[in-house]
Amino acid sequence: MLSYRHSFHAGNFADVLKHTVAASILDYMLKKDKPLCYLDTHSGCGAYSFQSSEALKTKEFNNGIFPLWKRADLPAPVARYVEQVVEFNAQSKLMHYPGSPSIARQMLRETDRMFLFELHPNEFTNMRENFSGDRQIKMAKKDGLEGLVANMPPKERRGFILIDPSYEIKNEYDLVVESLIQAVRRFATGTYALWYPVVNRQVINRMERELKKSGIKNMQLFELGIQADSAERGMTSSGMIVINPPWTLKKEMQESLPFLADTLGQDGQGFYRIETLAAE
Ligand code: SAM
Repeated sequence: MLSYRHSFHAGNFADVLKHTVAASILDYMLKKDKPLCYLDTHSGCGAYSFQSSEALKTKEFNNGIFPLWKRADLPAPVARYVEQVVEFNAQSKLMHYPGSPSIARQMLRETDRMFLFELHPNEFTNMRENFSGDRQIKMAKKDGLEGLVANMPPKERRGFILIDPSYEIKNEYDLVVESLIQAVRRFATGTYALWYPVVNRQVINRMERELKKSGIKNMQLFELGIQADSAERGMTSSGMIVINPPWTLKKEMQESLPFLADTLGQDGQGFYRIETLAAE
C-alpha cells in the first residue's frame, strides 16, 4: 500500500534542488533542434496547492520555494527554475506548485514527447485530469521502474529520465539501482537523474558504492543539505545523481548550491556536495 503524498512536501528544499537540476538539464537539452523524450518514473499528480490541508500541515514550502521566489539576487540556474514556478501560477501570488511533469511540460517543444508513470490510484487520476487531452503525453498507472526499462531506448534516441521514488518499500533503494543499471544498458547515451533523500547516510553511501561498482560512466552527484546528518530528524539533505549530465550542469550547480545552502540551511548547518562518481 502506497501512503506517500507529495502534497505534504511540494516546494520544499528537496524539490528546489530536484527541479533546479531538472530545469537546468532540460534547458540544455532543448537547445538542440532534435526531438527529446522526457520520462518521469514517479510523476506525482503534477500540481499542488499551497492552501491544501496537507501543505498547510507541514508548511515545508516555507523552507523551500517561498524564501526564493521574490529574490532579485538568485543565481541564474535557480532563477530559471523559479521562473517555471511563477509561470505555472500565472498571477502575482504564489498559490500552486507545479511538480516535475508540469515543469517539463512548460519547457518542452511541440516535437517532444513525455512518458509519465504514477502508481497511486488517486495521484494517477489527478494527473490524468491535469494533463487530459495533451497528445504529447503518454500516462500509465504502472510501476515506473518497470516502465523505464520497458521504454528504453526511446525512438528519438535523445532522452531525459527523472527517477524520483518515494522510497516507501524496504528494498526500493536496491530496486532503483538495479533498474537504473538495466536502463543504462539499453540506452547508454540517455541523461538520467536519480533523486535520493538522506534520512540514513549509510543507505546513501551504499547506493553510491553500488552505482560506482556498476561501471556506468560519466556520473555526477549534487546534494543540498539543510542540517547536518542526523538519525533523529528525518530528511536533512537530498541529492541528485546524474548520468551523462550536460557539460554545463556542474558549473551551474557550483553557482547555485552554495547560495541554496546559505539561504535554506538551518542554524548555519546548510551544506552541499558536488562530486564526480564516475569519469566520462
Ligand atoms: N516527481 C514528482 C515531482 O517532482 O513533482 C514527485 C513524485 S513523489 C516524490 C513520488 C511519487 O511516486 C508519488 O506520487 C507516489 O505515489 C509514486 N509512486 C510510488 N511508487 C511508485 C512506483 N513503483 N511507480 C510509479 N509511481 C510510484
